[in-house]
Amino acid sequence: MREVFLPATLAELWSLLDLHPRALLFAGGTDLFVKMRAGKTDAGALIGLERITSLKEIREEQNDILIGAGATHAELLRHRLISTHLPVLHRALAVLGSPPIRSMGTIGGNLCTASPAGDALPPLYVLRASVETASAAGTRLTPIKDFIAGPGQTRLGEDEIVTAIRVQKPADFNIQHYEKVGQRKSMACAVASLAALIRLDPSGAVQTARLAWGSVGPTVVTDEGLDNFLVGQTLSRETLGAAAEKIRRAVSPIDDIRASADYRRQISGNLLYRLSAAAPAGNDAWNETL
Ligand SMILES: Cc1cc2nc3c(=O)[nH]c(=O)nc-3n(C[C@H](O)[C@H](O)[C@H](O)COP(=O)(O)OP(=O)(O)OC[C@H]3O[C@@H](n4cnc5c(N)ncnc54)[C@H](O)[C@@H]3O)c2cc1C
Repeated sequence: MREVFLPATLAELWSLLDLHPRALLFAGGTDLFVKMRAGKTDAGALIGLERITSLKEIREEQNDILIGAGATHAELLRHRLISTHLPVLHRALAVLGSPPIRSMGTIGGNLCTASPAGDALPPLYVLRASVETASAAGTRLTPIKDFIAGPGQTRLGEDEIVTAIRVQKPADFNIQHYEKVGQRKSMACAVASLAALIRLDPSGAVQTARLAWGSVGPTVVTDEGLDNFLVGQTLSRETLGAAAEKIRRAVSPIDDIRASADYRRQISGNLLYRLSAAAPAGNDAWNETL
């Protein structure tokens, strides 16, 4: 028989972790219980985080938005701060799983699973999110790119949990875009995905570009050289075509049951063409079917 604990406060959680250091944590359980059922992991004790209300808070702190790790995708989709300030994240959560998965699954769980296909990750990379972790000893903040260590791996300490994700409100980005290509329209893990934050000047030239791809490398792929390449250029077919060639050379996708590496490489570039259509009207908009 497995013991299951549901602490209501962080103080209770620290005491439980002290007594059961090998216990597994779960939030929505949509990743962990699947792994347990498949025999990939197990433990004598489980500790659920769902009753710790402080982990569910979503609030503004000056120029930052603080997202509690225990907030479910559905709660985030309903929250004004997310739809108003973080459309790039909102778009990604809207295509994550299905309504039941979005009602149970949490952003903290998505982050800690650290799947290269995790839908919340590319948006959090372009938003330059920081991950707030805590243990009985205190709290620390880590940039997301340092927190994710590889496929399925994070730099979470043994006695730590993720308490929140901190994001600066992105200012003046004309484009906040997320798109994933999967095997189906819904309930599909990404074969490739792209998150983008782009700031344009009044003439339509790129002032700042931040791009991040999911599912085309061991973890989220970013390419500062490519971001810089776009600066000063309009999002024309020629520019995006050149950028597509560059990213196809930069990614390192794998073959798996969902898609071949070649297909993923191709799509990682094709996804860029959507940025032109995502730009405000009047900016040389044209569309290309993937
Ligand atoms: C049918 C199905 C479809 C899915 N579709 C998608 C999809 O389209 N896109 C996608 O990205 N994902 C998808 N997933 C995966 C999953 O639903 C998400 O990753 C979800 O966000 C996981 O959150 P959770 O709260 O359920 O995590 P859990 O299963 O509770 O936990 C996952 C891992 O994170 C750890 N953890 C959770 N919270 C914390 C915390 N606060 N601090 C420290 N560690 C923590 C747990 O110990 C565990 O190791 C799907 C899953 C299923 C079953």
